[in-house]
Amino acid sequence: MSHQTKKSLGQHFLADPGMIEKIVRAVDPRPGQRLVEIGPGAGAITRPLLQRHQTLTVIEFDRDLIEPLAAMGEELGAELTIVHADVLAVDFTELAGTGLIRLVGNLPYNISSPILFHALDHLSVVSDMHFMLQKEVVDRMAAGPGSKVYGRLSVMLQARCHVTPLFRVPPGCFRPPPKVDSAVVRLTPRDPAELGLTQPKRFEQVVRAAFSQRRKTLRNALATVCGSEVIEACGINPGCRAETVPVAGFVALANALGDVCVSEP
Ligand code: SAM
Repeated sequence: MSHQTKKSLGQHFLADPGMIEKIVRAVDPRPGQRLVEIGPGAGAITRPLLQRHQTLTVIEFDRDLIEPLAAMGEELGAELTIVHADVLAVDFTELAGTGLIRLVGNLPYNISSPILFHALDHLSVVSDMHFMLQKEVVDRMAAGPGSKVYGRLSVMLQARCHVTPLFRVPPGCFRPPPKVDSAVVRLTPRDPAELGLTQPKRFEQVVRAAFSQRRKTLRNALATVCGSEVIEACGINPGCRAETVPVAGFVALANALGDVCVSEP
């Protein structure tokens, strides 16, 4: 497929057959599963997925890629459903219907975090996700407390999913090559009972406030949300910084605060 790539849409197409195979092997589609690929582009992953799985839904924003993708589906005699839309406007829950979907994609890096949060909003219909992102983002997603890159993204994702970085993908695997290293990550939804989060909205608020001023102590960063005594009662030192608090600590704080209405920080 010849196509002038569009920088504004984060178009870096995979061109390394070995790496493409490695990604498809990591996804390992099984009969009966419903796969949804975000940003199929020129079909680098779409084609081998269809050759192996025969049934696939893809979500692509670039109108110039729709017809070539449809032609690929026909050529392979596969059942390819093309959703021509901005992925952030696609209701995954509606797309899933009564079943579960597996999300796959070499994501447009400029909107990778919004896509991750969008997927979290529909997590109850997602059985797993395999995404390629900037390696630096994958590092942040998987970071633990005490790490320099542990932050809001790490906590929000790890509270809902097991985050498993799989492998690094160097720039030379893409056309055109991006300026940064990439990595493939697997996200598997956690059983909500595992962490016992009862106040998801409050959790979001506490985590946002705690990391909005990373250099402040938790006592100060959360000043508009709760007092030191609540932080202490959760077994957390109010004088520490958010980047040292484990996910379970934020869950305890949110649960302790309950759903009482407080002003936004
Ligand atoms: N999967 C292909 C590959 O690996 O070669 C292309 C990956 S490229 C990094 C990202 C793809 O996402 C592009 O095809 C781009 O057009 C598409 N895209 C960008 N923004 C999008 C959006 N908001 N919704 C859906 N697709 C989008």
